[in-house]
Formats: sequence, structure tokens, C-alpha cells
Amino acid sequence: KLHNELQELKGNIRVYCRIRPFLPGQAGKQSIIEYIGENGELDVLNPSKQGKEGRRSFKFNKVYGPTATQEEVFVDTQPLIQSVLDGYNVCIFAYGQTGSGKTYTMTGPDGATEKDWGVNYRALNDLFRISQVRKTTFTYEISVQMMEIYNEQFVNSPSDVLELMDIGLKNRARSSTALNERSSRSHSIVTIHVRAVDHKSNSSSRGSLHLVDLAGSERVDRSEVTGDRLKEAQHINKSLSALGDVISALAQKSAHVPYRNSKLTQVLQSSLGGHAKTLMLVQLNADVTSCSESISTLKFAERVS
Ligand code: ADP
Ligand code: MG
Repeated sequence: KLHNELQELKGNIRVYCRIRPFLPGQAGKQSIIEYIGENGELDVLNPSKQGKEGRRSFKFNKVYGPTATQEEVFVDTQPLIQSVLDGYNVCIFAYGQTGSGKTYTMTGPDGATEKDWGVNYRALNDLFRISQVRKTTFTYEISVQMMEIYNEQFVNSPSDVLELMDIGLKNRARSSTALNERSSRSHSIVTIHVRAVDHKSNSSSRGSLHLVDLAGSERVDRSEVTGDRLKEAQHINKSLSALGDVISALAQKSAHVPYRNSKLTQVLQSSLGGHAKTLMLVQLNADVTSCSESISTLKFAERVS
């Protein structure tokens, strides 16, 4: 069974959908989720539309309901992580509106203990653990890089770098409102490069893992924002749609893949397409007040799967 699952996961593009639980402040709120199937089926109900109109069905590789644990999500991600040691390039994205649980899934909650660790920590842990197990046959060199893309630019001042290091070094720094706000408007990318040297043949191979916490996908009302805020919104929009275009071109095996349309897709080009493996973790806040954002998130996901 495990073998079959591994084979199945060797496909190039996967989409998993995760519905975060209601937070204490959402007690008693209505959920748009009507049904979650065993095989990635998801039915949502938009109560503001009558009858059939308000009902939509989606199908993904997996759907995790509000009670799914970090470990359950990781189990389905693990084979991709392992393949990095075998020389594959892997990209894992978290997509969704601000507050939908992207950072929770990728990093974990503030001050997470091992049980709540997100994909990032678990991935690193696995890479080191497996490289230890294989150390009599392979030597692995593992390096980690962090970057942020804000307004179609990479971090470009010492204070940006220090701030980024602060986020990297102390998880809790993210809890400040300012950083949270900033992170919802920039893409943050953790890249793990692996070089494997085979002792017997003395040959080497390289793999990489990109872990991407995308900027919030919410649409900003143009009539309400101006200046910097509008510029940010336009950049986010542009880069997320460029990402959608690239992945959907790959999913359709289209001859032309438009990598050049955003910094995000340029940076990730070598890890999207070819033999690379892509996982989109699509996050939802099921609260009925987020219904239209959730539907647009699901449509984005549908397009890339
Ligand atoms: P985003 O990064 O998409 O803006 P967050 O990851 O910050 O969203 O999540 C918003 C809030 O919901 C945070 O307080 C986070 O701890 C909480 N949260 C998200 N997903 C879960 C989950 N699966 N279980 C418990 N709390 C969650
Ligand atoms: Mg976040």
C-alpha cells in the first residue's frame, strides 16, 4: 500500500485542501462546508444563493477537515520531502486568504511544540533524520536559504534582512501585528538545498525543496485602497495569477509555460515543471462571512489541479 501511495505521489502536481477550525471568536458561526469525502471530494454551500445555485462540488487529491492534525497533513507530504534526497526539486505552497491558516500549516502556531510543528520543521527534521540513516552510503550537504518577495522585489536593505532573520530566528517575532501584516502581503520562501554524494560511485546529485508561504490571496476593493496599499495589492494579484498560470500550464502539459511574468515564478522556475514536484496546500476559513473569498480560493485550486 505504501508503495502504491509513493507511486501515486510521484505525479507532478498535487492539490490538498485544508479547512482550519473555527477560532474561539468564531463560536456559533455558520460553516460553508457541507461534505468532505474520503477521496478529496468537497461540497460547499453558499447560503446567500438559493437551491442548486449555492451548491458547488470540488475534487482535490486530499481534503483535510477542521480536526486534522499537523501530523496527518505531514504524512501525506512526507514522500515528497524524501524525494528531495533522491535529487528531485520540490515546491510546496500554502495558498489562501489572510487568516486561513497558511502560516499555521507551513510553520505552526506561535511557540509551537513538536506536536504542532508545521511542514517546514517536519521537513527539515526528516531530511536530517534520513540523511543520518543513509550515512554509510551517502554524504548529504544541506543548506537553508530564506527570502521574501515584497512588491515584486527581493529584500534589499540591511534592515529588511535583519527583520527577516528575526522572523527566522525567533518564531515569536511573527506574533507582532506589524510582522503579521507584512507577512500577509509578501511571499516568504524557505529553500533547502541538498547535495548527495554517493560513496560507491563518488557521483553527486542535487535536490531542492522550496517551502512557500504565499501572500494573502484576498481581493482588495480598489475603491477603498490607494497609494502603497493599492500598489501592494496589484503586485500580489499579479504574482498569484502568474503562479496560477504557470501551474495550470504545467497541469495541462501546455507547450508554453509563462514563467517570466513575476519574480515568484522566476525564482521557482527550476522547481516548477520538468521532473519537479509541486504541492499546493489550499487553505480555507469556512466561516460563511468568508464565503466569496473561499469560493475564489477553491476556483484557483481547481484551475491548477
Ligand atoms: P494565515 O497565515 O493564512 O494568515 P494563520 O496561519 O496565521 O493564517 O492562521 C490564522 C489563525 O488561525 C492563527 O491564530 C492560527 O494559529 C489559527 N489556525 C490556523 N490553522 C489552524 C489549525 N489547523 N488549528 C488551530 N488553529 C489554527
Ligand atoms: Mg501568515
